[in-house]
Amino acid sequence: MPVASDSPVRLASSLDKLPGIGAKRVRLLSRLGIRTVSDLLRHLPLRHELLSAESSIEELVPDSIGSCRGTVLTTRFVPSMGRGRSRFLVTLGQPGRNVSLTWFNASYLRKKLHPGMTIRVRGKVALYGGYPQLINPQWEDLSPEAESQTPVPPTDDRLRPVYPSTEDLPSSVIEKILTDLLPRVLPGLSDPLPEDFLTHLAMPKLADAFRMAHFPANLDEASAARRRLAYNELLLLQTGMAIKRRYAQTCLRAPALRWSPAIDQHIRARFPFSLTPAQNQVVKELISDLTKDQPMNRLLQGDVGAGKTVVALYALLMAVADRKQGALMAPTELLAEQHFASISAMLAGSDVRLELLTAGQSTAGSAARQEQLQRIATGQADIVIGTHALVSGSVRFADLAVVVIDEQHRFGVRQRAAFRESLTPGTPPAPGSAPGSAPGSSPAPAQAHPPASTIPSPHILVMTATPIPRTLSLTIFGDLDVSTIQGLPPGRTPITTRLVPPEKSDEVYRYLATRLAKGEQAYVVVPTIDAQGVASPAQLKNVRAHAQLLAERYCRDYHVAAIHGRLKRPRREAIMERFRRGEIHVLVATTVIEVGVDVPNATVMIIEHAERFGLAQLHQLRGRIGRGTGGRKNLCVLSAQPTTEDATARLAALVKTTDGFRIAEEDFAIRGMGEFFGTRQSGLPPFRVARLPQDMDLLHLARRDAAAILNGDARLSTPRWQLLRRALYKQYGPSLGLADVA
Ligand code: ADP
Ligand code: MG
Repeated sequence: MPVASDSPVRLASSLDKLPGIGAKRVRLLSRLGIRTVSDLLRHLPLRHELLSAESSIEELVPDSIGSCRGTVLTTRFVPSMGRGRSRFLVTLGQPGRNVSLTWFNASYLRKKLHPGMTIRVRGKVALYGGYPQLINPQWEDLSPEAESQTPVPPTDDRLRPVYPSTEDLPSSVIEKILTDLLPRVLPGLSDPLPEDFLTHLAMPKLADAFRMAHFPANLDEASAARRRLAYNELLLLQTGMAIKRRYAQTCLRAPALRWSPAIDQHIRARFPFSLTPAQNQVVKELISDLTKDQPMNRLLQGDVGAGKTVVALYALLMAVADRKQGALMAPTELLAEQHFASISAMLAGSDVRLELLTAGQSTAGSAARQEQLQRIATGQADIVIGTHALVSGSVRFADLAVVVIDEQHRFGVRQRAAFRESLTPGTPPAPGSAPGSAPGSSPAPAQAHPPASTIPSPHILVMTATPIPRTLSLTIFGDLDVSTIQGLPPGRTPITTRLVPPEKSDEVYRYLATRLAKGEQAYVVVPTIDAQGVASPAQLKNVRAHAQLLAERYCRDYHVAAIHGRLKRPRREAIMERFRRGEIHVLVATTVIEVGVDVPNATVMIIEHAERFGLAQLHQLRGRIGRGTGGRKNLCVLSAQPTTEDATARLAALVKTTDGFRIAEEDFAIRGMGEFFGTRQSGLPPFRVARLPQDMDLLHLARRDAAAILNGDARLSTPRWQLLRRALYKQYGPSLGLADVA
C-alpha cells in the first residue's frame, strides 16, 4: 500500500514505495546506489553554495543559481510570434568569455539595457546548445554613473546543497526530493547515542545533524553535522570491532602449544638459512601468542619477498611439534601449489605429513578426495595446504591448532570469520547447528550465549604483502594484532624499474634476448589470455599471441611458454616446474603469477599495458623478480603509455621506489579508502560519510569512546545503549558475525 504523502516514513522503506518519486527517478537514484530512504538521507551534499555567490562566467554551473557580472555587448529584441512569448536577448561579456541572457515578455528592458553597461545578474543557469544561459535573471546596473536603482535584492544567504549527481538526475532534483522527505523522516529518527553523551562531545543529535548536513543555516552547521555523522559511523565500527576482540579474548579457547629450546632448534634445522633479526622478532611474537590459550589473531605484514612464508611455517611446525595440525590457505591454486612445493622441499626427509588440497587437484567427491579428507579428519595429515577449498565445508580437521592465511588482501573480515567457524574443531559449519557458527541463529543473542571459555578456536595468522596503512589497521583490521617484517632478506639485489613507451617494444625484446643468453630467465605479463571478448584485440596483447610472437621473433633459441588461469592444474604445475628448473626461459603470463611465485633465476620482468594494472598489483608482480642472490641486475620494464592522471601517478610511484610501505601509502592516497581494500574484499559495508585518512582524529575519538562504552556495559545490554546496540547489529551484524558474539 503506498504511503500517504504526508505520513511519517521509515528509514528502511524502499524508495519505490514513496509517493512523489516516480519509477524513473527511483531507477536513476538506484544508479547512485540509493535504494532506501536511509540511503537517500545519507546521500550528503559534496558542498554547499551560497545562493548569492558571484562567479566568473566559466564557473557557472548548469542547473543551479548562478551570478556573475560583465559588460553588455549586444542586445536584441525578438517579438512574439503568434502566441509565443517575446524574448529580449543580451550577450554579456567578460574578457575571453560570453554568456547569453534571455528574458521572456520583457520588452521594457529595451529601454533599460544598452551595450557598454556593466551589470551584475543572477538567475537560473540553463544549457542551451551546449552553452550556459541565464533565464530571466535579476540584474543590477554597476556602471559608475548609474543611480543605484533596482539593485539585485540582497539574497537570503541560504546555502544550497550540491549533491553528487548524474546528468539525468541533477543536484536540484535530489535537493527537491530531500526537501520534501526530511520533514517526514527526521521527527521519527531515533538517536543511538544518549543526549548527555552528545552534550559531552558537543555534537548535535542525529536528526539535527541530518537536517544540517543537507540544509545548513551556515557553513559551521554543515561541518558540525558532517562530523557527527562521520563519528556515528566510526563509533559503530569501532564498537563492533571491540566487541569481537573482547569476545575472542574471553570466550574463545585455543590450544596453548608447547614450546622449548629443543623444539625451536628442531624447527630451525629445517630452514635452509638462518632467520633475519626482523624474522626472529616476529617468531618471538608468534611463540608468545601460540603458547597461550587465547587464540592468536595476528596480521603479519611484510613486503613482497620479505620472507613471510618461513615465519608462517614456524607457526605451523609448532602445531605439529605438539601433535596437532596446521593449515595454510592461499588465494590461488598456483600459490598453494608453490607453497606446497617449497614447504615439501624444506621438510623433505622429516616425518611431517603434508597434504595439498585445492579444487583442481582432486575433484570433490572423487575417491582420492575422500581418502584425503579422511586423512585430515583422522589426524594422519599434519599440515594441509590449500585454497579456499579448505573452508568449503567438507573439510574436517582432527585437531587443528594453527591456521595461516596468505595474502590477506584477497580475503576479508567475512572470510576470516568463515574460516574460524568452519575450522573450529568439532564445529560443523552448517548454520545454526553449533555454538558460534550461525549469524542470525540467535534472535536474542544475549540469552543464547554459550558458557564462556568453551568455544574452541585455532590460532590464526594472516599475512599480507600490501602493508596496511595505520587507518586501516584501526578500522577494517581492527580486531587483529599486527607484526611487521621490515626490509628484505640479506643478499637481495635491487630492482631497476623503467617506464618505456610501447613503440620501443622491439628494443626491449632484443635486450631481453641478451639477458637470456646469459642464462637468466624472464616473465612477460600481459593483460588477457586470448583475443576472445576483447574489444580491440589488435591493441591489447594476449598471452597466446604474445608467446607466439616472442617464440618466433625474439627468442627463437629459447623456450617460451604461456601460463594462465584457464590451464588445468597438472599442466600449469608442469610448466611452473620446468620454469623453476630452467627448462623454460620465458614465461608469458597473466596476473596468475602475481602472488608467491618464487624462481630466483628469473631476473627480468616485462609488463605490457602496465597502465591497466593497479599499483599494488604491479608491485606484487614486480616482486616475482629480485629473488636471487647472485648479484645480478634485476630489471622490470613497464611498457605503457599512461593517459590518465591516476595511471601516470601509479607508474611514477613504481619507478620511484620498490618499498612496499611507501607504495601502499601512495596507493592509499591515489585511490582512497573505499577502493584500497575494495569493500567487497573487506566484506564490510562502506562508510557513507566518514573519510579516511582525513577523519583520523574522529577515528581515535570513536575508538576511545567505544572502549569506554564497553567498559561500562560489555554487551550493550543496559537500556542506555539499547539503540546503539540495535544500530550496530543492523549495520555490522552479518559482516562482523556479531550474532555469535553478543
Ligand atoms: P614473501 O614474504 O613475499 O612471502 P617469501 O617467504 O616467499 O617472501 O620469501 C622470499 C624468498 O626469500 C624465498 O626464496 C625465501 O626462501 C627467501 N628467504 C626468506 N627468508 C630468508 C632468510 N632469512 N635468508 C635468506 N633467504 C630468505
Ligand atoms: Mg608469500
